[in-house]
Amino acid sequence: MKRYIKQIVVHSTATFDPKISQHYGFFHYVVERNGEIKKIHPESSVVKHLPDVDNEAIHIAYTGGRNKSGALGDTRTPVQEEALFNKLVALSVKYPGAAICGHNELDATANCPGFSVKEWLRNYEPDLLLSA
Ligand SMILES: [Zn+2]
Repeated sequence: MKRYIKQIVVHSTATFDPKISQHYGFFHYVVERNGEIKKIHPESSVVKHLPDVDNEAIHIAYTGGRNKSGALGDTRTPVQEEALFNKLVALSVKYPGAAICGHNELDATANCPGFSVKEWLRNYEPDLLLSA
């Protein structure tokens, strides 16, 4: 089934131990700490994560988002950050009408992905379509 993608939502898996993978089911893609991108579900599938947007969303997460003491935050490695960025560029080329946002922009109570996607992407060229 072809879907109309309006949102590309960035998450963390909210895990500290990179071996813990039980949360992978909630995302289309997961970017590992070594920069490897795992495809978990086809883009044509609806992944249940945020009911308001799921039908029109691609969910992508980086592995991590939680530090040793259990606090949520930005734990991306440099190669992970680069791989995540490249994947977002590729997705926004494929879905030109889709806005990129962080989970925390859709749900203010969520400390996910642990950083501001807007602020992060502002540092890069080319300009990507960010949600309002
Ligand atoms: Zn999330």
